[in-house]
Amino acid sequence: MTDEKPKSHGRLSISASVKPRELMSDTPRIKGAWTAKIITLFPEAFPGTLGLSLTGKALDMGLWALETIDLRPFGDGRHKNVDDNPSGGGAGMVLRADIVGKALDEAAIGTPPDRAKWPVVYLSPRGKPFDQATARRWAEGDGLTLLCGRFEGVDERVLQHFGIEEVSLGDFVLTGGEIAAQALIDATVRLIPRVLGNQASTEEESFSDGLLEHPQYTRPTLWEGRAIPEVLLSGHHAKIADWRRGMAERLTKERRPDLWRAYCAKAGRDPDEDREL
Ligand code: SAH
Repeated sequence: MTDEKPKSHGRLSISASVKPRELMSDTPRIKGAWTAKIITLFPEAFPGTLGLSLTGKALDMGLWALETIDLRPFGDGRHKNVDDNPSGGGAGMVLRADIVGKALDEAAIGTPPDRAKWPVVYLSPRGKPFDQATARRWAEGDGLTLLCGRFEGVDERVLQHFGIEEVSLGDFVLTGGEIAAQALIDATVRLIPRVLGNQASTEEESFSDGLLEHPQYTRPTLWEGRAIPEVLLSGHHAKIADWRRGMAERLTKERRPDLWRAYCAKAGRDPDEDREL
């Protein structure tokens, strides 16, 4: 068994332990703060990048909370085995349903059973691709339980039994779910009020209105012979807004025809229109 002390990493809002229930009580956090519970064989991977910058500051302030549930202590026997050979043969190992099930039972303690309020998610390349709409939906709930896979993944039965939603970070295969978990949590907690400080910035950025964001510039005005587009220095707010929208549309049309078609359908516009952007 690993130590049972809270691994505070200097932060009040993280608990990592084989007995999350007990530790939660000596883990101060703002009551009702959005909480991510992460089942993982590598709790030391957290908070990772989530402990930095704005998400880290918000974590310190208790605006959201992180709780890791170490899968290892739920393992079987002296060696705390968590995996076994795939039924039917083949390479690799599979995380056992009974072991993962015990960790999920532990995670369910103190969380609402309503999946709309508290989704239970398995990170998986087979899942629905994660997007901004999912981040928004999750940020509106009370929290989230994330199951990080390793090896060849987890026994299918545990996913069915617990009614687990499978979500993918993208069409590639990672070694484990931990990096994906951090990416998903980052995208979600930055939408929680006060985490970013400047709420307006989430309203204008990529995907929020179905378009990619316009290009950004800052000083110096001239760099390596390249000037900042003049309109941005004009102080003319309406013209700047027009330019930004035009650029956002052009970039979206060029780079993401799928988003562009969806945007045009919503706005009742012809995606093939030849208007000068
Ligand atoms: N055999 C599996 C891949 C296992 S990769 C398959 O072919 O589908 C090991 C673990 O990494 C997975 O259980 C999952 O939790 C995580 N993982 C890998 N790629 C991922 C992705 N694109 N998105 C989210 N999680 C991923």
